[in-house]
Amino acid sequence: MENANSLFHPWMKQNDFQGKKITDADGIYIWIDGKKCFDMASQSINVNIGHRNSEVIRAIQEQCEKLPYIYSGFSNPIMDEAARDVLGVLPNIYKKVYFTNSGSEANENAIKLARMYTGKQKIFSSYNSYHGSTIGAGNLTGDQRRLACEPGQVGFIKFNFPDKYHSKGQFRSDKEMSNFYLDLLREQIIDEGQNNIAAIFLEPIIGGNGVIIPPDNYLEGIREICNEFKILMVCDEVMTGWGRTGKWFAFEHWDIKPDIITTSKGMTSSYVAFGVVVVNEHIAKYFDNHVLMCGSTNYAHLLGCAATVASIKVYKKLNLIENSELLGKLLNVELNKMKSKYHSIGDIRCKGLFAAIEFKDNVMGKRDSVNIAYLINLLEEKGFWTLGRRNILMIAPPLIINREQLLESLNILDSVLEDLYMKGSK
Ligand code: PLP
Repeated sequence: MENANSLFHPWMKQNDFQGKKITDADGIYIWIDGKKCFDMASQSINVNIGHRNSEVIRAIQEQCEKLPYIYSGFSNPIMDEAARDVLGVLPNIYKKVYFTNSGSEANENAIKLARMYTGKQKIFSSYNSYHGSTIGAGNLTGDQRRLACEPGQVGFIKFNFPDKYHSKGQFRSDKEMSNFYLDLLREQIIDEGQNNIAAIFLEPIIGGNGVIIPPDNYLEGIREICNEFKILMVCDEVMTGWGRTGKWFAFEHWDIKPDIITTSKGMTSSYVAFGVVVVNEHIAKYFDNHVLMCGSTNYAHLLGCAATVASIKVYKKLNLIENSELLGKLLNVELNKMKSKYHSIGDIRCKGLFAAIEFKDNVMGKRDSVNIAYLINLLEEKGFWTLGRRNILMIAPPLIINREQLLESLNILDSVLEDLYMKGSK
């Protein structure tokens, strides 16, 4: 307990920390105080390649022995290889990367790059989003985690992201819904001064706030608005990137290409803390003759670069993107079976191995977190560990999970929900 007392634990009252320890981890499993559990949130929806992958560990070890660090004014083959490999899994309009140490820091630098490139200041982002905890990324964030950054910085404007489940019945079709939200956004842009806006940031699928998949035509509409008003479109793929949704990046589910992509998490599965900003050829070219006013002591850290190169090899070798797409379909079917069985489930949202179960407010208790915490504890007792928020349970296992393991884990979920709702254990 000595350590527990000297270490801060994020996003909680420190007295609420339960003191649980991960004593071991391997593949899709974690051991919580010795108890083996499916890791159904890949920790923080980041350990996409699973725990303790020996190839990635070896690559990091070898790089560490060879050369762990160099000053950012120099280059080194592993840096170039990592940059090329990241660009290699993206459409070829993207030409340069800027490495960072986290997702928040990727968004911080994307804000700066967008402002430097456009010469404009205002930044739009959506309510219900999460973009990070640092001041800039916190100002982008639309959910309540932004409040720690209040009063907000001038020039950060929030718009509403369409949420199909919560606006049920209000729109006859996806198209009608998209048009409604796009028209509102267009008005907001004009009111904010259409020549003042550098970028619109969004998560192509809102992640941490519950896998909110936009209606058809919405992201295409955002792309058109950005083209019309010469605003950069920035997709935050920190959580949705790296196969999580069944494509390398979630934006690829639609006919759009953002100008800037930020990502982190699955890039190295957090074997090393690392992130990246990827920019299109126009932005890349601009900085040929303009000073890039960004930097960090740990820029393009060689261990992060080695982890990135090795991780991308693992994604390809194990066909993890295809596995996520394929097993995501199974996950969707199985979760929808549960929805038809338990009337407390309001909505299932699933894309690849990225799913959310949203419980009805009146059953789980008015969007408070108490009951979801209770459900999470019951699940953990049965060997199914995951994360939840408000009345939403996340399901996002490592992409290396196989069909049998997925079904076995979902059986645990089903039996816990059955005990809870059919047999009335609560
Ligand atoms: N953006 C999104 C979409 C995220 O989900 C997160 C973290 O969960 C971040 C940014 C921040 O990343 P980090 O926690 O690595 O700073």
